[in-house]
Amino acid sequence: MIPKNHPRYESLILREKIKEAHKKGYLTDSGMIAHGRGEAFDYLIGEKTMPPANEAIKVAVATLIQAKNSVISVNGNSTELDIDEFIELAKNTDSKIELNLFYRNKKRVEIISKLYKDHGYENLLGIDDKKIRYIDNIDSPRATASEEGIYKSDVVLVSLEDGDRAEVLVDSGKKIIAIDLNPLSRTAKMANITIVDNIVRTIPLMIEYAKKLNSKDESQLKELISDFSNAKNLNESLKYMELSKLSKS
Ligand code: ATP
Repeated sequence: MIPKNHPRYESLILREKIKEAHKKGYLTDSGMIAHGRGEAFDYLIGEKTMPPANEAIKVAVATLIQAKNSVISVNGNSTELDIDEFIELAKNTDSKIELNLFYRNKKRVEIISKLYKDHGYENLLGIDDKKIRYIDNIDSPRATASEEGIYKSDVVLVSLEDGDRAEVLVDSGKKIIAIDLNPLSRTAKMANITIVDNIVRTIPLMIEYAKKLNSKDESQLKELISDFSNAKNLNESLKYMELSKLSKS
């Protein structure tokens, strides 16, 4: 039992959740390591949403709302940490949700599909092996996508993503929004819009923005999107991390 007054209570609760999901069999050993890497970066940013991340979140939501066929890609970690929030975000941005597992197996797919159903979401994509296709005919497990979801999408939101898949998605001409606590990762650098923040803070903020931006007209959304530079935003995040690190010493 973690005492509520522990200075790192929230972070330790997340760690417990990740351990639970691992025990239940739908989160891999590598998923735990990826979480640990995220924790380290979250520590450096002070476990708060930085101003540049907030800016990227706004642009990301406008991009999802503007998309013709937007898809939120989920895996074991993101499901464990944010399942209800992903479902809510999908509703508010008219996006689909698709499962993509680095280490895909039948058991993991079954457990995660059931979780989405239990949380009231019936349309999870990417769970039927027979309907999986390869993006641009690249015969790699990282290029798999469901026909009606990522394969046909114009915008994909990814989190806890690996650089190889991000590259395949970007090269196929899709607009990629990445949520990644590491601003130096290949995914963060490759994506069109990178939100350097923890998904547990980002997704609720995205839902709030979606509710506000849904009433904006197309030209206002376009203006928001066109002013954004991912390279600039990543640099601002890096500068911010440096400062917050010094303020801790
Ligand atoms: P790349 O191939 O893009 O360089 P990587 O090999 O570092 O990435 P993984 O080890 O798969 O990728 O880790 C996934 C990424 O997710 C890491 O950069 C980590 O910082 C980030 N991450 C982990 N937990 C979270 C979280 N809760 N919210 C946002 N990002 C997270």
